[in-house]
Amino acid sequence: MPKFNILIIGGGLGGLATTVALAQQGHKVTVLESTAKLQTIGGSITIPPNSMRVWDYLGLLPRLHAAAETSMPSPRVFRSYKGEEISEGGITKSVYKYDLTSLHRAPLQKLLLDAATEAGADIQINTRIIEIDESGLSPVAVTKDGRRIEADLIISADGAKSMLRSLLHPKTQLSTCINCYRAVIPGSMLRADPELSQLLETATIWWGPHRNIVGVPIQNGQLFSLECTHPGDTGTAGDWNKKGDVELMKATYSDFEPLVLKLLGMVKAEDLLVWKLNQLPELDSWVFGGGRVCLIGDAAHAMMPFSGQGHAMAIEDSAALSLCLARCTSTSSIPRALHAFEAIRKPRTTVLGKYSEHNARIWQLPDGPEQRERDERSRKSPFFIAPDWDGRHVDEVPGIPPDPLFFPYMLAHDVVAFVSFPR
Ligand SMILES: Cc1cc2nc3c(=O)[nH]c(=O)nc-3n(C[C@H](O)[C@H](O)[C@H](O)COP(=O)(O)OP(=O)(O)OC[C@H]3O[C@@H](n4cnc5c(N)ncnc54)[C@H](O)[C@@H]3O)c2cc1C
Repeated sequence: MPKFNILIIGGGLGGLATTVALAQQGHKVTVLESTAKLQTIGGSITIPPNSMRVWDYLGLLPRLHAAAETSMPSPRVFRSYKGEEISEGGITKSVYKYDLTSLHRAPLQKLLLDAATEAGADIQINTRIIEIDESGLSPVAVTKDGRRIEADLIISADGAKSMLRSLLHPKTQLSTCINCYRAVIPGSMLRADPELSQLLETATIWWGPHRNIVGVPIQNGQLFSLECTHPGDTGTAGDWNKKGDVELMKATYSDFEPLVLKLLGMVKAEDLLVWKLNQLPELDSWVFGGGRVCLIGDAAHAMMPFSGQGHAMAIEDSAALSLCLARCTSTSSIPRALHAFEAIRKPRTTVLGKYSEHNARIWQLPDGPEQRERDERSRKSPFFIAPDWDGRHVDEVPGIPPDPLFFPYMLAHDVVAFVSFPR
């Protein structure tokens, strides 16, 4: 296998995971990241079984558990906004081979940064890319301060508001109509309250009319991450730093159960952020015309967090891309590898994006017959269970739930086997 000189634009979770995968294969990888230091903003990141499998493939599973400060699974409980428990989601290692866990974004990012550095990658911070030049034999990334950096291959992992995507698809817009308050509360505050301490045992998803709340204990219960979605115009797309208004947040969820109101009362003004959630329509292409520049992660397929699969799709991309490139015999076969990568990955990321949109609707149904029917269905057949699945890998893209093969397709996907042995 030839060793390429590869540029990765963006040192977020997807860019760094791809860096690890490619540097482990012996490629010379340089990461160009616009910010001045490690991004520590954010709340919980979910690692579902299909993502955990890739962490294992990269040899990073023990470090992932260490970063999460626990190797215990993190079950999901669904409740109505009035406090009634509806069902418990059934993700189990015996069914999906790997568990599900959640952890804070900061240790996850640090783990990947350390692993990328140890694998020999060159990480350049304070380096914003503003242009791509494909006019020569090899593509060139142009930095804001005027440097031109040439490579055999350029990978755009520059996130939901990707600059490189705007070059390839100038008319494509992120759809952004749902806002999200984010806060992380010290677990000790919940532990001190007998009612709230139960929330440290499981992740809880409250379904309410036009709004929902997800509360996840992370770092072995030392922290509790809150995500509260709502309509309106409080957030800004792709701005992870915008401060939220605590009083407005409390007013927005004032009809939720008293447990939630007590929880929201613990959020400090300085800790509250408000985001607009991003969803990208399916793009015609992820590969630039010259065939040596391509989009991955949120740049290619940003989706709202209602599937818990945003980061998982980015890390699956990292394994898939490295395996496609491993089949190259020279730089002239890079375009074929990138097109193969896109052809393999797009159907999956597209259906998971649709599933996120589907959940955005059904997790926020107004009170009424459709909501009652959802609750009843969820009681009988909880999220993530797959009673009729025979355990075989689901190769073909299924429909979204209630298609019985959807959860096995989402959670038991083995990206390495799927890319290595195409059916
Ligand atoms: C600060 C932050 C917090 C987040 N918190 C959460 C969370 O709590 N939960 C969750 O599920 N998802 C969160 N996300 C989104 C989640 O990380 C992504 O869905 C997923 O990990 C995909 O990763 P990515 O590498 O494609 O994009 P990202 O992780 O967004 O990384 C993109 C990177 O590219 C860099 N970049 C952007 N433009 C340029 C440029 N022109 N030149 C060079 N570098 C550039 C950015 O600074 C960033 O580091 C967060 C993203 C960010 C940036």
